[in-house]
Amino acid sequence: MKSRAEEIKNIAGKQFDLCVIGGGATGSACALDAQLRGIRTVLVEAGDYAGATSSAATKIIHGGVRYLEEAIKGADVQEYHVLVRALQERVCMLENAPHLTRKLEFLVPSYKWIDVAYLDIGLKIYDWLAGPGRISPSKFLSEEETLRRMPELNPKGLLGGVAYADGQFDDARYNVTLVQSLTVAGGNALNYARVTDFQRGADGKIAGIVVKDRLTGETFMVGAKVVVNATGPVSDAIRQLATPTVRRRMRPSKGAHILLPLDVFPTEDALLIPKTEDGRVLFAVPWYGRLLVGTTDDEVEPGAELVVTKADIDYMLRHLNHYLARQVTPDDVVSGFAGARPLVASGEEGDGTKKLARDYVIEIDGASGLISIMGGKWTTHRAMAEDTIHAVQRALGVPQTESSTRNHVLFGGLGFTDDYWKQFCRDQAISEATAHHLATKFGTAGGEALALGRENAALLEPIVAEHPAIRAEVVYSVRKEMAATIEDVLARRLGIQLYSWRTAIEAAPVVGSLMAAELGWSDAATHTAITGYVEKIHHLLDAAGLPRKRSSAKAD
Ligand SMILES: Cc1cc2nc3c(=O)[nH]c(=O)nc-3n(C[C@H](O)[C@H](O)[C@H](O)COP(=O)(O)OP(=O)(O)OC[C@H]3O[C@@H](n4cnc5c(N)ncnc54)[C@H](O)[C@@H]3O)c2cc1C
Repeated sequence: MKSRAEEIKNIAGKQFDLCVIGGGATGSACALDAQLRGIRTVLVEAGDYAGATSSAATKIIHGGVRYLEEAIKGADVQEYHVLVRALQERVCMLENAPHLTRKLEFLVPSYKWIDVAYLDIGLKIYDWLAGPGRISPSKFLSEEETLRRMPELNPKGLLGGVAYADGQFDDARYNVTLVQSLTVAGGNALNYARVTDFQRGADGKIAGIVVKDRLTGETFMVGAKVVVNATGPVSDAIRQLATPTVRRRMRPSKGAHILLPLDVFPTEDALLIPKTEDGRVLFAVPWYGRLLVGTTDDEVEPGAELVVTKADIDYMLRHLNHYLARQVTPDDVVSGFAGARPLVASGEEGDGTKKLARDYVIEIDGASGLISIMGGKWTTHRAMAEDTIHAVQRALGVPQTESSTRNHVLFGGLGFTDDYWKQFCRDQAISEATAHHLATKFGTAGGEALALGRENAALLEPIVAEHPAIRAEVVYSVRKEMAATIEDVLARRLGIQLYSWRTAIEAAPVVGSLMAAELGWSDAATHTAITGYVEKIHHLLDAAGLPRKRSSAKAD
């Protein structure tokens, strides 16, 4: 990626075939698909790439076992199609970014024989529906095997379990990588660029966008023959900006997650809790040395503050503790995050269709020409983009061409192997943990970050003692990934904010001063950036009902 300043020069006042609004999974995938088809594309994002829902997922690449149950119970053919497409998309996600994804086995422990039979049959259907996209076959596990794989599982009354395979991915990094891949393909992208209005042609149709640079306050125009609205849970705001009379369609729902030290429940597999008290599923998934637990489901108003509350933590721990031999308490929680699912009603509000769409909806607004892509999930982002860009080609009046994203290996993925990290250890004097971290966050591009250590050996130092990330990664994120705030680095580029809120507070001054040197921040601006970030993390700890400092000897 180029720097923000360079990218502003490339897009302000310029004309594009397509402008995509929203740099989450959906918008970034749309922009990449279009650019690869030769459509001159610009992507604009109001915050950071993946700054909204796309870094708040459970990080599972899945068809969705819950949706399977709904499809069977409702005998819903369309639901089956949605499921099958998602199952097939899993393979594309796994193959196109091998550094950011992996296959993962999910264990469903069972305490009743009827549940074992129900799950076993259901998961066989899941395998069968996946067809050639099957990852590995589901199987019944004895009580001994289940406890061998999950030794801290509650053994009382345990009969065994059923194991099945899906995938796991690093959502924030996957999103940044989509944008990297877009710029490598010749597209343009700018973060912290909010669309505030549209330019119109004589016929009233959209002919461009008005953008406010949120870091400088400046406003500029960008011309575009077609505009795609990929703004996720807040899509209605852009739809209504285009045509004020359209009714709302988004029905966002908040989902929260927490992270715990992995030693509370050591496991290499994911745990699936099949039925919560509100009839949902809950996951506990190993994640970079932590246990990621989620999620909740509460309808919220668009724009509502999305933080993990004490009630969210109590809900998740209450369910998790049924399955654990040793009980976990809120004091064990090291961090968390919450996001809004971009659920979309199948029809406009007021037309009698209250039902949520099964999957995603592409809407073409006849009055303005705006194309909105709403709903879906991370696993289907590529397929959603493929369909959206078919619609864009129709709107542009050009012949429809095939999407090439199905087999397009993303930035940092080409030539990547599971032992690629060893090369980093050979190149520089870094720990194995750091080499692993670089490989799993940046893929082959980790070498570029590491090369910065040749200019300045101090950049090979860790940012903080308890996390493997090194200072060179901060510099790389600013120079090559458009990171513009401390949170961009700690939350989405390096993952330290997920590892531990309190560790992220410790890391903030180091990251702030490295960013200041790169971006030319004044001392006052650096101080404001660091204190602002620390205040934000304090707010997250307060909302979760957790102490700002560890009171006990226990470390995060
Ligand atoms: C709790 C939870 C768990 C989930 N777990 C999974 C999972 O395990 N697997 C899975 O496949 N899916 C999962 N999902 C679903 C998945 O995360 C979402 O479907 C996906 O991230 C949506 O991406 P998006 O790009 O549509 O929306 P977003 O990521 O929200 O992106 C929209 C972007 O538009 C930008 N924007 C808004 N207004 C403007 C404007 N005026 N100008 C410019 N930009 C603007 C926003 O800043 C935002 O970045 C989960 C979702 C949630 C909430």
